[in-house]
Amino acid sequence: MTHPALTMLSEEEEMLRESVAQFAKDQIQPRALAMDHAAKMDPEIIKGCFDMGLMGIEVPVEYGGSGMSIFSACLTIEELAKIDPSVSVAVDVQNTLVNNAFLRWGTEAQKKKYFPRLVSDTMASYCLSEPNSGSDAFALACRAELKGDHYLLNGTKLWITNGGEAGIFIVFANVNPVAGYRGITAFIVERGFEGFTVGKKEDKLGIRASSTVELSFENVPVPVENVLGEVGKGYKIAIETLNEGRIGIGAQMIGLAQGAFNNAMSYMMERKQFGKRIADFQGLQFQYAQVATDIMAARLMVYNAARLKDAGRPFIKEAAMAKLYSSQVAESAASRCVEFHGGVGFTKEFPAEKFYRDAKIGSIYEGTSNMQLQTIAKMLQNEHS
Ligand SMILES: Cc1cc2nc3c(=O)[nH]c(=O)nc-3n(C[C@H](O)[C@H](O)[C@H](O)COP(=O)(O)OP(=O)(O)OC[C@H]3O[C@@H](n4cnc5c(N)ncnc54)[C@H](O)[C@@H]3O)c2cc1C
Repeated sequence: MTHPALTMLSEEEEMLRESVAQFAKDQIQPRALAMDHAAKMDPEIIKGCFDMGLMGIEVPVEYGGSGMSIFSACLTIEELAKIDPSVSVAVDVQNTLVNNAFLRWGTEAQKKKYFPRLVSDTMASYCLSEPNSGSDAFALACRAELKGDHYLLNGTKLWITNGGEAGIFIVFANVNPVAGYRGITAFIVERGFEGFTVGKKEDKLGIRASSTVELSFENVPVPVENVLGEVGKGYKIAIETLNEGRIGIGAQMIGLAQGAFNNAMSYMMERKQFGKRIADFQGLQFQYAQVATDIMAARLMVYNAARLKDAGRPFIKEAAMAKLYSSQVAESAASRCVEFHGGVGFTKEFPAEKFYRDAKIGSIYEGTSNMQLQTIAKMLQNEHS
C-alpha cells in the first residue's frame, strides 16, 4: 500500500487550513501585539474561534462538533500559531486535552451535557499541575472525599491555561492517597461551584495573552455523576490525554517557527545593505535555508504522529519525539529570525521578538523536554528488551 506524502492534505483539510489562516490574518494579526501587551485575550477572538467551529474539531457532529480528526486539530493549531501562539494554545487545550478526555472517558450523559457548551461558547481548562507536583504529576496533593452523593474537593492547582476565561474544568484529585497514584480521579468542575475560586494570574515571558492561573478548592462539592471515567483511573486519563496533547504542542511549535520565519523572510527580501537585498548574501542564504529545512523536518514529525494517532496505530514515542524536536526547532528558529532582522528584530515593532519569547514555553508545558526524553528512552528500552 502506498501512502501519500505527509504534507499532502485532503480537500477538507486544505479548506480548513485556508479558512483558519484567513481568520488568523484578518482577525488575530491586528490584535496580537495589543493582546500581548495587555496580557489578555480579546473576547472577540475567543468568540471567533467558537463561531468558526475551532473549539470542537474532533467532537462528533451529533454533539455540535466538527467531526474531524486530530490531524485537523493540529492543522488549526499550527495555522493559529503562525500568527499568535497564545490563541493557538487556547484552542489546543480545548481540543486535544479537554474535549479529548470527554470523548474518550465521558458518559453519554456527560457528553450530552457538556459538549454543546464546549463547542459553542465555553472555554475549558485541564488541571493537573500543582505547586509541588509538576513533572512528578502523580504526587498531586488535591484531595477528594466521598460524602454521600458528592465528593468534597480540597487543594490548589497551578499554571492552569485558559483558567481566566474557562467555565468548565477537568480537575485531577486523589480519592485515596494510601493507594498512591491509583487514587487519582478526574472530576468535572464548573466555575460556579461553591468554594471554587480562580486566583492569581501569572505574568509571563511569552504567550502572555493566554491566561495561566492558580485555582483553589475549599470543600467544593462535586456531584458523583461528575466523575470523568472511573474512580482511581485518573492517572490513566492524565497519561493518555497528555500523550495526544503533545502532538498539539508540536503543532503549535511548528506554526510558531513558520510564523517567525515568514516574517523574517519578507524582511530579508526587502532590507538592503551594501547595495543589495540581504536575502541575496550567501551568508544569510545558508542560514535561512537551514532554518526552513529544520522546520520542515519538525512538521513531518508532528504530522506523522497525528496521522498515526488518527490511524489507531502506536504513536506515543513519535508524539514525544515530535514535541521535543519541534520545541527545539521553534526556539532556535525564532532566535535566528530575530537576528535576521538585525536591530529592529529586538524591538516590538516587528513580531520577531514576540515569537522568540513565545517559543520558550514549548520545552516546558505538557511535559518538559527532559520528560519527553525519559518517555522516548523508556519506549526504546521496551523495543529493545
Ligand atoms: C504557561 C504555562 C501553562 C501551563 N498550563 C498548564 C495547564 O493548563 N494544566 C496543567 O496541569 N499544567 C500546566 N502547566 C504546568 C506545566 O505542565 C509544568 O510547569 C511542567 O510540567 C513542569 O513542571 P514544574 O513547573 O513543576 O517543573 P519541575 O517538575 O519542578 O521541573 C524543573 C526542572 O527539573 C527537571 N526535572 C524534573 N524531574 C526530572 C527528572 N526525573 N529527570 C530529569 N529532569 C527532571 C525538569 O525537566 C525541569 O527542567 C503550565 C505551565 C506553564 C508555564
